[in-house]
Amino acid sequence: MRQSKLFIPTLREAPAEAEARSHQILLRSGMIRQTASGVYSFLPLGRRVLHKIEQIVREEMDAIMAQETLLPSLQPTELWKESGRDSDYGPELMRLSDRHDRSFALGPTHEEVITALVRDEVHSYRQLPLTLYQISTKFRDERRPRFGVLRGREFLMKDAYSFSTNWEELDRVYEDMVQAYTRIFTRVGLRFTKVEADAGTIGGSGETHEFMALAAIGEDTIVTCTSCNYAANLEKAIYKIPEEVKDAHLLTEESVSQKVKVHTPDMKTIQQVASFLEKEPKDIIKTLLYEADGVPVAVLVRGDHDVNEIKLQHALGAKQVEMLDQEKSKHLQLPVGYLGPYNLSMKVIADHAVITMESGVTGANEKDQHYTEVKPGLDFTWDIAADVRNAAEGDQCPSCSSALAFDRGIEVGHVFKLGTKYSDAMGATFLSQEGTPQKPIMGCYGIGISRLLGTIAEQYAVDSTMNWPAAIAPYHVHLIPISVKDETQMQLVQELERSLTALGLEVLVDDRNERPGVKFKDADLLGLPMRVIVGKDAADRQVECRLTGDSQVVDDAGKSISERLSIEEVLHVAKHQILPKLR
Ligand code: ATP
Ligand code: MG
Repeated sequence: MRQSKLFIPTLREAPAEAEARSHQILLRSGMIRQTASGVYSFLPLGRRVLHKIEQIVREEMDAIMAQETLLPSLQPTELWKESGRDSDYGPELMRLSDRHDRSFALGPTHEEVITALVRDEVHSYRQLPLTLYQISTKFRDERRPRFGVLRGREFLMKDAYSFSTNWEELDRVYEDMVQAYTRIFTRVGLRFTKVEADAGTIGGSGETHEFMALAAIGEDTIVTCTSCNYAANLEKAIYKIPEEVKDAHLLTEESVSQKVKVHTPDMKTIQQVASFLEKEPKDIIKTLLYEADGVPVAVLVRGDHDVNEIKLQHALGAKQVEMLDQEKSKHLQLPVGYLGPYNLSMKVIADHAVITMESGVTGANEKDQHYTEVKPGLDFTWDIAADVRNAAEGDQCPSCSSALAFDRGIEVGHVFKLGTKYSDAMGATFLSQEGTPQKPIMGCYGIGISRLLGTIAEQYAVDSTMNWPAAIAPYHVHLIPISVKDETQMQLVQELERSLTALGLEVLVDDRNERPGVKFKDADLLGLPMRVIVGKDAADRQVECRLTGDSQVVDDAGKSISERLSIEEVLHVAKHQILPKLR
C-alpha cells in the first residue's frame, strides 16, 4: 500500500484534551477522531487494527463452538420492562422513540434480545448447550466518557451468551470461555491478569471474573498475591483476618473507661485530627453515615482504611448502600466531622480492624470535640462486626498469607455466570429429557473490542512512538525510501515490497515526497513492527532495518546484529522475527 494514497491525518502535537497516552497516540497517528464526547470515528489505520482484533476474537470464539450472530442495536423498551432492567439500568440507557411514539433503547448489552430469541426458538434440551455471540456497537450514556476509546458512549463489544441445561454444563462453557479469553489477550500482546470480581445484584451463583490489563491510568484497582495466584478486583478482594479478631469480645468487667474529651477546633479530616493529637490515621476510628435501602446506618472503620460499599452491602444484606448525603445528614442533626459511635439511634456496623483496637480516637458527637483513649467494646458497642473495608497495603493473602500487591487495571473482558435471572424474568423454558419444562442456565461474556485497541496502545506507546504488536499492527513492514526521486532506491523498494508481500506480510511504502525527518516522525507514530529504510546504500543493495519496541534484529543464534542489512538478510529477519508472531 502506498502511503501517499492512504488517509492518515497525523498530528505534530497531541490535542490538549487528550490526557491518556493511548488517546494521544491514536489521535496523533491518525487512527481515530472524536465526533462527539465519547463518540469516535475510526479512520483506515484504526479500522485495520480493529479488524485484526475482531478476527482473533472470532477465531477463538468459533474454536469453542460459539456461533456468530448480529443482534439489533434498536431494542424495544418492552423487552427491558420484561427483564425489569428498564428502571434498574438508569440514565446510562440511551432512549428514543419512533414516529409512532413507540419507545426504544439503543442496546448497551443484549441479554434481553438474546433471551427473547432463545425463548421463542429453543424448545428442547436437544438444542442445548448453545452459545451465541456477536461483535457490535454498544451505546451507554456514561457519566464520564474519558480517555478516548477506553470509555466511550458508543463502542465496539464482543458479547456472547450461553444457554445450558444444568449448572455443570454452564461450568464447562464458562471454563472454555476463560481459556478462549486467555488465548485472545495473549495473542493480541496484552499484559493482563484474570481477577475475581463481584457479582453485584445480578444473581445466579454470581461467579464472575474480569480480565484486567495492567495500566497506570486504569480505573480499577487489582489486588494480587506476591506469591500464589490469588487475584481479585479491590471491590471483591479479601485478606487474611488476623487471629485476634476471632477472639474479639466485649472487655471484662474490670476494664475501666479512660476516655478523655479533647478540644479539636476545626479539625475535621482524619489527617488534621491525627497530626493535632500526634497520632497516626490508624489510631483514629472513623464514624461514617450510610443509607442501606433507605435506612441510615453508622459504619466504623480505621482512619487509614476505606469502606468497601459492596462488602457493606453484603454484610447488611441490603440491595443498595450509599453514603448519606449532606441534606439527610443535616436532618439527623449530627455534627459531621465530629461523629462518634455514641447514642446514634441507628444500627452500628464495625469493621474487624476497629474492634481489635486497644484504644482509639473518635469524634464526640459535638462540634470541635473528640475523645481519645476510647476502648472498643467498653466505651461503645456495635450491632454487627464484619469485614467492610478495602484490602490495604500490609494485608496478607487470604489463601497463602504472603503480602498482597496493588496495581491499576483496565477491564478489557468480563465473564459471568448469570444463572436463571433472565430466563426467569422473561419466561424462557425448554423441555428436559424427562419432558418437564426447565429454565436454561445462562452465562454472559464480554470483551471491549475498541477499549482493547486503546488499552494495547496504552501499554505499548512511549511518548511519540507507538510499537504495535505484530499480530494486530495495521501493517507489518514500513518501507521508507529516503528519496522518492532516486530511481535506484525506488527500484529496490519495489523489489522488497514484492518479496515481503510474497512472504505474507503487509507492506506500507512511504512514497511521499517528504523530508526524511517528517517520514521518520510519522513512522514513529505509526509504530509498525518492522521498518526498512532504503537510502544511499541502495546501489550496494544494503538497507537499514529496525524492529520496534524491545525487539532487536538478531542472527540465527539470537545475537543482535548491525541494522545495516542486505536484501537477503532483511527477508530472513522478516521470515524469522515477524512472521512467527502472526501465527
Ligand atoms: P466498566 O466497569 O469499565 O464500566 P462494565 O462492567 O460496565 O465496565 P460490561 O458491562 O461487563 O462492562 O461490558 C463488557 C466489556 O465492555 C467490558 O469488560 C469493557 O471491556 C467494555 N466496556 C464497557 N463499557 C465500556 C465503555 N464505556 N467504553 C468502551 N468499552 C466498554
Ligand atoms: Mg460500565
